[in-house]
Formats: sequence, C-alpha cells, structure tokens
Amino acid sequence: MMRQYDLVERVKRYNPAADEALLNKAYVYGMMKHGSQTRASGDPYFSHPLEVAAILTDLRLDDASVAVALLHDTIEDTDATRDEIDALFGEEIGGLVESLTKLKKLDFVFKKTQQAENFRRLLLAVSDDVRVLLIKLADRLHNMRTLGAMPDAKRFRIAEETMEIYAPLAGRIGMQGMREELEDLSFRYLNPDAYNKITQRLAMLAEQNKDLTPKIEQALMEKLQSADIKALVKGRQKKPYSIFLKMQRKGVSFEQLSDIFGFRVIVAKEDDCYRALGIVHRTWSSVPGRFKDYISTPKQNDYRSIHTTVVGPGRQRVELQIRTEEMHKVCEYGIAAHALYKDGALTRESGAFTWLRETVDRLNDPNLNPEEFLENTKLELFHDQVFCFTPKGKIIALPRGATPIDFGYAVHTDVGNTCVGAKINGRIMPLMTELANGDEVEIIRSKAQIPPPAWEHIAVTGKARAAIRRATREAVRKQFGGLGRQILERAFERAERPLSDSILAQAAPRLGHNAIADLIAAVGRGELSSEAVLKAAYPDYQDERAASSPKPTAGEGWFGLDRGRTMKFRVPGEAEAQEHSIPIRGISGDLPVQFAPEGGAVPGDRIVGILTPGEGITVYPIQSPELKEFDDQPERWLDVRWDIDPDDPVRFPACIALTSLNEPGSLAQIAQVIADNDGNIDNIKMMRKGGDFHEIRIDLEVWDLKHLNRIIQQLRQKPIISSVLRVNG
Ligand code: MN
Repeated sequence: MMRQYDLVERVKRYNPAADEALLNKAYVYGMMKHGSQTRASGDPYFSHPLEVAAILTDLRLDDASVAVALLHDTIEDTDATRDEIDALFGEEIGGLVESLTKLKKLDFVFKKTQQAENFRRLLLAVSDDVRVLLIKLADRLHNMRTLGAMPDAKRFRIAEETMEIYAPLAGRIGMQGMREELEDLSFRYLNPDAYNKITQRLAMLAEQNKDLTPKIEQALMEKLQSADIKALVKGRQKKPYSIFLKMQRKGVSFEQLSDIFGFRVIVAKEDDCYRALGIVHRTWSSVPGRFKDYISTPKQNDYRSIHTTVVGPGRQRVELQIRTEEMHKVCEYGIAAHALYKDGALTRESGAFTWLRETVDRLNDPNLNPEEFLENTKLELFHDQVFCFTPKGKIIALPRGATPIDFGYAVHTDVGNTCVGAKINGRIMPLMTELANGDEVEIIRSKAQIPPPAWEHIAVTGKARAAIRRATREAVRKQFGGLGRQILERAFERAERPLSDSILAQAAPRLGHNAIADLIAAVGRGELSSEAVLKAAYPDYQDERAASSPKPTAGEGWFGLDRGRTMKFRVPGEAEAQEHSIPIRGISGDLPVQFAPEGGAVPGDRIVGILTPGEGITVYPIQSPELKEFDDQPERWLDVRWDIDPDDPVRFPACIALTSLNEPGSLAQIAQVIADNDGNIDNIKMMRKGGDFHEIRIDLEVWDLKHLNRIIQQLRQKPIISSVLRVNG
C-alpha cells in the first residue's frame, strides 16, 4: 500500500504549492475511518481510496480532488458524516464527497431504469463540479483493475456497464488513456477468449520486434534532427480492444492487420508538426488515404494530432501521430488536462466541455425520461457509430456512413447476399442511403440475387466488403465453369467425340490440372482452348476443319472472315449453328457475358462471341466493325446464339445516332418518342451542337431488334429529325 509520504510526493511533483497539511489530514482521516474494513480481494479497504487518489495524481488534478478521492467512500461505508467532513475539510470537499456518495449508492446496479437514474445523477453532479466525473472515472478504473476478486456473474455486468457507459464517456471528454484502459479491462471479462488470443499474439510480436522498434525510433529521430526539429519518437503497441475492433470492422484476422505498431512524434511547436510531416513524407513514401490533419480540424473531444502512415525503414508500414507536447496532454488527459483549477466549474470553451454542458442542460427538461436520456446519450458517446434496429427490435451498431447493404451483412451474410432492396422506417429507400441513428431497417431479399460487384464501393464495413468480394468471386467462378462446360460440349459435339467427366478426368493431369472443375473453369476463362482438351482426351484427334479449306457462306462473310486469313472455324449452316452455339440470355444469366462496348447487341441481330481471358464473352453483332480487331485471333471466336425466355424478357443495349433540327424542345420530342415506344434511355451525348443541326448519340435499352427498328421508324417520322442510324462501334 502506498504510504502517506509517497502520495504527497506525487502531488508535489506537478504542484509544488500543494496543500500538504490537507492531504495528510485526509489520508489519516480516511485510513482511520475505514479502519479494519477489507475489500473482496482481502486487501485493507483504504488501499482503494488511496489508489484512486494516485490515479488522480497521474491526471495531475488539484489537491482538493486528491483529498476527495481519499474520502470518497467514507460517508457511504463508515460512520463519517457530511457535517463532520465539512467541519474538518470545508464545504467544497464535503460537497464533492456527498456527490460521490449519492452516485455510489447506485453503483453496479443492473436494471436499466436504475442504470439510467445513476447516469442522470452522475451528470447532474458533474454540472456542479466537473471534478466529480474525473474522480468517479478514477474510482471505476481502480474497481476495474481489481475486478478479478469479484464473483463471475457480477464481474461480467460491471465490465458491461464500464464498456457501455464509462469508457465511451472518458473518450468523449478526451481522456484517451483512461478510455483505453477501461476498454481493455472490460474486454478481458466480456470476451476472455479473444482477449487472451490477442494479448498472447501481441506479446509474441513485441518480442519479435524488440530490435526493430528502437531502430525505427532512431531513424525517425535522426532524420528530424538533421532538419533541426527537436522530436521525441516513441513506438507504441496498439491496445487489445482497439485491435479487436479493427479486426471486426475490417473482417480480417490478426495476421492481416498491418498496423499493430504506431509511433508518436512529439515536437515543440505546432509549426514543427507540419515540418516533421514534410520530412517524413519526403523520406518515406506515404500510404494513400491514411493522412489526417486533426490539428487544423480537431475532433469533437478536442483531440489534435496529425496522422499518417508511411512505408518506413525496412519496408515496414509505420503509423505516425505527430503532435506537440501540449496537444499530447490534451489527447491523453482531455478535460483533466485543463483541470488544475479551484472551482471545477464547466466554463472552458472546448468541444468536450461544451458537449458535457449541453448534455447536462438537457437534464433540466421536465419531460425527461431517464431511460431514454441514457439511451440517447449513449448514442452520442459512440459518435463514430450509428445504431439501427431490425424490424424485431434487435439493435445493430454500424460505423457512420453505413448503408442498408452494411446493415444486411451485419445481420447475417446470407441476408446481405440476397438483399435486393431496403425499407427504412417503413419506406423503400435506395440501397446507398446513409443510415441514421434509430433507423429501423428491413432488408428485402430475393434468393436469385447475387451481390453486384459495385456494392463493394457502396458498403463501408469490412464485413460487407469482404462478403461481397467473396460472393462475386464465387459467382464469377460458377459462370466461368458454366461457360467452360458449354464450350467443351460444343467442341466435342462438333468433333463427334463423346464427352464425359471420366474422359475429362483422364485428360486433366495432361493439361496441368488436378480437378475437372479447374480444367473446365480454365476453358471458360479462355486460358485453355477446347481444342487442347480435345487433343488431350483423344490423342488421335485431328482438326478436320484446319485441314479443309472452308469458304464463307455466300455474301454473308459470317465472321467477317473474308480477309484471307487461315480459318480455324468452319462456317456453320443456320441449323448447325443453333446446335453447336452457346446460348446468350443476357448479362444476369449464368455465363460471364457482356455486350459490344460501342453499340451493344440485341436479340434478332446475328451475333458472334469473343472470348477475353479472365473476362468472359463479349457479344458483337456481326456487322460490328470492332470485330476486325480479333481477325488474327481465331481461337477467341465463339459461336453464340440468342436464347431468350419469352416469359422473362430482358432489355439489351443499343445505340442510335440522330441528326435533328436545332430547335427549342427538340431533345424533349426525341426523348418522348423513345419513351412512348417503351425504350429506356441510358445516356444522351451531344456530338455536335450549334448551327442548324444537332448530332446526338443515344444509348438505349430495347427488348429486341424489332423493338429497336420500331423506335427508329417512329423517330424518322418526326419532322425535326433528318436522319436516324443505328450505331455499331
Ligand atoms: Mn470507491
């Protein structure tokens, strides 16, 4: 147990004018009153108020606060009275001890109503004197440090309350050191498995890096010194709970986290922060997206610092926080950094003080419902998060900026994967809507859904992003597998050779694949030609088509193959083409299909497929001039045909070019014709504007060639339109 002398020494180190007599008197009085009382751990009870006082000296609080800490449990737990304390120590100290006593009565109560009442009283007491909050937090911190002596069930509830209320409250008023310790202590009891795993690995990492850390510190310090910047660089391991949160947020494992170590650069002046940043960025390359300037834009809790990440000495990712000594104090101690004052009133004009005062002001509302107040204030404590509800009332916590897609994945991966829409508070809303606190979100699902890859950029949570990536990868893998099988089936049919899994299984090792699925997918991706598979399966197979010299069907130039190159593909007759070709159903089918980037293709067009390794088939109308580019790559050409389900029609992309009179409202007339004829306009581009005529290009979606032609006919009938042509590349 700390001795009286040690405590006074601690205070005098930062406050040489401290009232020694007061501290000594409080020490003796507290020790006498608690007498032989013991704590759950068996320690003398007085060790607790003494440790709380010691925590306050770390926060460099005034001597009245330290004295109050020594006395904070006397009225509640001993025969001491307010009057007696007033008489001995004055009303200021007596008042503070009484405030803490009122709070203590409600400590560790687990019913929500009581917890709410407790919290309300805490804030009311704080409105009289902010030191109550600081002493209360120190009291909770010491109780958490000694929580091991409590029975299991009680331990869990206390840790829960600390994690829900006290740790965020400490963070909200800027006391990061306090917040981190409270979080880690709670985490240890709330999720012991995760806590143990993470601390063990951290210890291993610390051992592995014990040489590296001083090296990086040294390198940074020397670099800054050579530019005449005095800096203290200190390496620091991240805390277990913050690592845990990061793993959860990003959906990654411990090993995948690259920034376990951070370095603090403490400099003398604000100006030096920016100079130091300049030197760091000129010496090592910075990691994009990791730079934040909280000096020019401080956080709500007054946090100021520059954050950046560089690829530092030894190609190691190094996370840096650059700040002045003064900023560092505020970062660590928050409100307590300004707390060497006598009256403890909330007068400081800082973000954290303002927040506290406003929160306390709301307590004066006569209609206040304490439980609601607790909930709302808790929501504000987690100011980087939003809390939303499922229709059944389950609460889902998400980072700010989260969308219904994130919500879906937070509920369950399956819910995210099958999400096609969302109702927010009963109304259908776009999936990119940013969720707000208290939103009730209902996910509309469809079994047929595959999450579109673009969602990865809409989602903000790591969990959602990882799941979307996984699902699209899986879907693409399936598509390539499907395509590969179709290509093989057609090729074997054409060669009049039987195809079966056992035949493929025999051929696979010869082609460098162990599993049939890999082999088929490789064909689908265009990495392996169907001919190579045929030859591996039937070594005697000769490509008759290569041997014969086929001619294009008269007039058609089926593949545009009339430019004298060696033909690998036989030009099939219509019936044959049907039989051997790959059916095209649209982009959302089970094949990796896209349409000609310039001009698209619609059912009714005669079409050709071009296989792009890794991307799938691009479908071109045979008249597309873009096909020329593939003339010398016959292995990429595929026979394809339309296979449209009349009961489930889909739209296809097409492009038209118009020349119209330059008249007011001409564009509106054109759009009207297209809309009247059930066409969807995707994009309108003015190719040439001014003069007597406009040249306009319109990307649209139509059902088929007939539909497209009807739209073109209707447009041509408009007097303002002088020409309409379909564009193909
Ligand atoms: Mn206590």
